[in-house]
Amino acid sequence: MNNKKGFTTTILHSDRLLQPEFGALHQPIHTAVTWGYEDVNGLVDVFQNKTRGYAYSRQGNPTVAALEQKVTQMEEGLSTVAFSTGMAAITSSILSLLKKDDHIIASSYLFGNSRSIMQTFIEIGIQISFVDGTDIENIKKAYKPDTRMVFVETIANPGTQVADLEEIGNYCSEHKLIYVVDNTMTSPYIFKPINVKASLIINSLTKYIGGHGNALGGSITDTGLYDWENFPNIAPVLRSQIPPALLGISQIRKRGLRDGGGTLSPEAAHSISVGSETLALRLERTCSNALILAHFLKEHTLVKKVNYPGLASHPQHKIASDLFRGYGGLMSFELSDKIDCLTFLNRLKVVIKSSNLGDTRSLAIPVAKTIFHELGAEQRKEMGIDDSLIRLSVGIEDIEDLLEDFTQALY
Ligand SMILES: *Cc1c(COP(=O)(O)O)cnc(C)c1O
Repeated sequence: MNNKKGFTTTILHSDRLLQPEFGALHQPIHTAVTWGYEDVNGLVDVFQNKTRGYAYSRQGNPTVAALEQKVTQMEEGLSTVAFSTGMAAITSSILSLLKKDDHIIASSYLFGNSRSIMQTFIEIGIQISFVDGTDIENIKKAYKPDTRMVFVETIANPGTQVADLEEIGNYCSEHKLIYVVDNTMTSPYIFKPINVKASLIINSLTKYIGGHGNALGGSITDTGLYDWENFPNIAPVLRSQIPPALLGISQIRKRGLRDGGGTLSPEAAHSISVGSETLALRLERTCSNALILAHFLKEHTLVKKVNYPGLASHPQHKIASDLFRGYGGLMSFELSDKIDCLTFLNRLKVVIKSSNLGDTRSLAIPVAKTIFHELGAEQRKEMGIDDSLIRLSVGIEDIEDLLEDFTQALY
């Protein structure tokens, strides 16, 4: 079977094509920590990158490799390294490739923990400028000769701002900057960052790709578009052993995964693999549910404001329509002063009060009192986070039940 098959067909048949024992349709869960070699030269060759093989499960495992290959196929990329969590992937993308004094331009609308780890990187000597990534002009203004990387998310959480993805891609490729796109909120079914010239794609596999809230995981995919041969931070020992196109992802596997140690377990890789088979189906339903709910909430007299890229009133509605196959499952909304945010949430019966997103079930959380609580009132105000803001991750329930749940709770 070739790569020209459709998105879901490709994922469904991916394990089988690796020819597992007994004609199994899934890659088995390989729990071995280490691999033995009949001839010690085989082990030596693996260590010297002369042949592809397995040595120790921290840096490579066949069950995890099968998932990595699926993510590569979904993203139409070159190669993928999986991690224990999305955060381990994000940390490794920076730790593996940048040095003290290198400069990153990052979107100011980042996932809270991503913003927080960036703060830690600043403390150990990496320079980071946070700018509003919805307008390329802000990226241009922040550029310096030692800028090495631009880091953005597709749809930001919880405000749903959409980055100026295509313009940033053009700018990064002109200036030879590593363009990192966190595709978690869209997933490769809705958006392929390779189409806007991304260099590296991050996915939290915990969210839509795994999709069932039962396994943590993360990944970095190299699209093959960045010129690693001329990147100054590649370790000399790798240059002598690895083909130029694979220098970036190899350094990520060695420094980020092998040395960093944020390894995905084979059990979690299996759960995520199975979950990913229905990514397209789940997202079709999620996007359809979310668009209907966004319109419903926007019309409701007790709702002050709805943030969802699928609404014509959204500031980046046009970019989202041009680039995405759907508008995703994440929205946020502010309530009118006539209704208390926590009272409203407690009335919901189908929607679960929970901090995750990208689950099959609809999940809601009061933003100011939970995920943005640590920031304090002043910084929340600066970021436009209203005290009544609710983040909603829309699931695949029957839309009638979701509409009924919101209708009975909004009074
Ligand atoms: C959840 C999330 C992450 C972190 O992923 P984990 O798997 O929870 O570590 C990173 N980026 C975005 C956009 C996310 O939503």
